[in-house]
Amino acid sequence: MSPTPGRLVDSFGRVHNNLRISVTDRCNIRCVYCMPETVKFMPRDQLLSFEEIARFVGIVAPLGVDKIRLTGGEPLLRKDLDVLIRMLVAIEGVADVGLTTNGMLLAPVAAKLRDAGLERINVSLDTLDPARFERLSRRKGLEDAIEGVLAAKRAGFDPVKLNAVIIRGFNEEDVAPLARFAREHALEMRFIEYMPLDAGHLWEREKVVFAQEILDVLASEVGPLAPSADRDPRAPALDYDYLDGGGRVGLIASVSRPFCLSCNRLRLTSDGKLRNCLFALDETDVKGLLRSGGPAEEVERAVAASVAAKWEGHEINTARFIQPDRPMYSIGG
Ligand code: SAM
Ligand code: SF4
Repeated sequence: MSPTPGRLVDSFGRVHNNLRISVTDRCNIRCVYCMPETVKFMPRDQLLSFEEIARFVGIVAPLGVDKIRLTGGEPLLRKDLDVLIRMLVAIEGVADVGLTTNGMLLAPVAAKLRDAGLERINVSLDTLDPARFERLSRRKGLEDAIEGVLAAKRAGFDPVKLNAVIIRGFNEEDVAPLARFAREHALEMRFIEYMPLDAGHLWEREKVVFAQEILDVLASEVGPLAPSADRDPRAPALDYDYLDGGGRVGLIASVSRPFCLSCNRLRLTSDGKLRNCLFALDETDVKGLLRSGGPAEEVERAVAASVAAKWEGHEINTARFIQPDRPMYSIGG
């Protein structure tokens, strides 16, 4: 009997149709909220091959997974990513494939990725100031990142979303300039609250610039905003429209307004572990199953069990919270 679409429902009734796939743990920069300064990356033979990723997606698509996002590490460090995108869009049931990138390697390949069938693109850009870029990412490269954003726009991605993590003491002063830059170039700006997923476990609540504070800055320095009428209640971003018609901005308030109760996401790490939550303390070894040559039903059962075991939500705001061992770059944000 063929599996029933929409079967990935957890014990809280959440339907899982969204899969984020990390294609590498490697990165060309070292953002302080994500990576350590010195890092030992996984041996390449531990990474899932394109064929293994596509086989996994082919197994979960009939279970209702129709939305895929490629991430990392920096996904554009994975050679020939367009080949993987072509493989994924060809899988029956996959409705769209997106990419989250730091943009530094994007300019030369943006058009090729779009031709391969990439639907959506998010570029992470936390500052427009070269010195702050270097302090946040411990590397140079702001110009390349900006060039990547503009190239994505030229290649026809619409919208191009810009993601910024704002950390107190690092880049609060970038909120208004980033929002203005996004408006000027018709990009959709999204501000993300800093989460305890940094490699150094140095996260502190005091360093989080909460969504409300960002909204206040935007309203006073950029333009008045109102909640978007077509806001998707299941999406993590709280969308606002500028009242003067100059675009949209999203707030991802993972800490101050967790959206766990509408979470529809699963994550596959680059070394083939399935995680049912960003903050999960357990994971399921999918690579072992894929490499053992076992039947698809075995993988299906493992995915269904992982979904069934999903907890209600992260507990960042409680004393019970335990930061997972894997930092963001190794999970796939
Ligand atoms: N390298 C790509 C990039 O930076 O877009 C993709 C991987 S990165 C881990 C994905 C997203 O996670 C980025 O937007 C990044 O800003 C975000 N991120 C990383 N660490 C974070 C943290 N501790 N809190 C909030 N967002 C974080
Ligand atoms: Fe690399 Fe993205 Fe992590 Fe920054 S956030 S270190 S770009 S993986």
